[in-house]
Amino acid sequence: MPSYHVWTVGCQMNVADSQRIDLSLERMGLEREEQINEADVVVVNTCVVRQSAEDTATGLLGRLGKEKLNDPLKVIAVMGCMVGPDQTDLKRRFPQVDVWARPQEFQPIVETVGARTGLSTDGCLSNLTPHQPDIATFVPIVHGCDKFCTFCIIPYRRGREASRPVEELVNEVTRLAHRGVKEVTLLGQNVDSYGHDLRPRVDLADLMERIQEIDGIDRIRFLTSHPNDMSTRIIQAIADLPKVCENVNLPFQAGDDRVLAEMRRGYTSGQFLDRIDEIRDTVPHVTLTTDLIVGFPGESEAEFESSMRMLERVRFDKVHSAAYSERDGTYASRKMPDTVSRDEKKRRLRAVDELQASIQSEINADLIGQQFDILVDGETRGRLRGRTRGDKLVYLTGGGPALGDTVRIGITGASPWSLEGDLRATQSQKELVST
Ligand code: SF4
Repeated sequence: MPSYHVWTVGCQMNVADSQRIDLSLERMGLEREEQINEADVVVVNTCVVRQSAEDTATGLLGRLGKEKLNDPLKVIAVMGCMVGPDQTDLKRRFPQVDVWARPQEFQPIVETVGARTGLSTDGCLSNLTPHQPDIATFVPIVHGCDKFCTFCIIPYRRGREASRPVEELVNEVTRLAHRGVKEVTLLGQNVDSYGHDLRPRVDLADLMERIQEIDGIDRIRFLTSHPNDMSTRIIQAIADLPKVCENVNLPFQAGDDRVLAEMRRGYTSGQFLDRIDEIRDTVPHVTLTTDLIVGFPGESEAEFESSMRMLERVRFDKVHSAAYSERDGTYASRKMPDTVSRDEKKRRLRAVDELQASIQSEINADLIGQQFDILVDGETRGRLRGRTRGDKLVYLTGGGPALGDTVRIGITGASPWSLEGDLRATQSQKELVST
């Protein structure tokens, strides 16, 4: 029986897409192979948001090209954000690749593999719900992005926003619940815009209300938000719907208004802060995470300092920081010279990371002695781990719970990046869990 290997880099959307192509190939009758160089079919799921991710994928394609010289029957498929609408240049650069597929378009891969292996492709692409999903699983709900921030390649590669119908998603999450999933993270490049293209028009709050009713699902999260589309109605839904976790990822990207305008983010720093205040006023104990770019073209020292002040003002629970890297095809790469040196970007990134580590250290230290419900979702080096509703990673000491259990724990230790929790820190665990 031919074998396959799916290699993935990039965001949660790519992870979710990989799970689905994985299932399609399994349905065709291929066997999963853990070693990439042993597989008859290799699917490379790419990301081009950062240069490093793109370099990793192109390096892998180079190695696979050499292997294919000795094994000409090997099928190499490439999907994800590297694959735009025009593949002429990619086909010239990587002649070893047998098939190219745009994000979420699995059909070309399935058809090529079917033709090369002689296996039937019937039914391979319908109801792609993973057989053995993780306890906490990602569910893409809206593909693409209409925002066109000047630094971002996503809208050119993933296309315009397209929401999946509510009933399709409710059925998928119901199937996931039957297969043991307890937590779903609803995914979109701009998840708050979900439903604006559906008729009748719905929004993310409507969808979360429906998922809230599904037995077996204990927690609902969503990623990634945009400050302009995160409506008062969505914020209220976080407060009102018991299964929706009190955790919001709201990227600010820059703290200076001139830089925000150059990025075409569509809001000022003041408007961003108003949104943060509204979330904090509406959702008690909410945790906040964000995304930030340093060294955007033309960013001065004073403008960078505005980003640092934003971090101090909001005190996020986590920050995904990145140095600006020019992406071919974006407005910024065509019109805005990359003026901040590589060393200066590194220095700014270090400054952000140091400031944020000290903020997280203080926030997490304050949690010692408090009690939280955690969903136990995995194991690291023999220790169970889970997450609070606020998405804090907790390592457990003291045995007892199984994967998928929700247990109340007491926080006994903290670092900037994770917490230590102890089941024995609670007096009557059973009683507390049932509250
Ligand atoms: S909102 Fe902006 S940064 Fe986010 S995916 Fe869309 S274009 Fe890219």
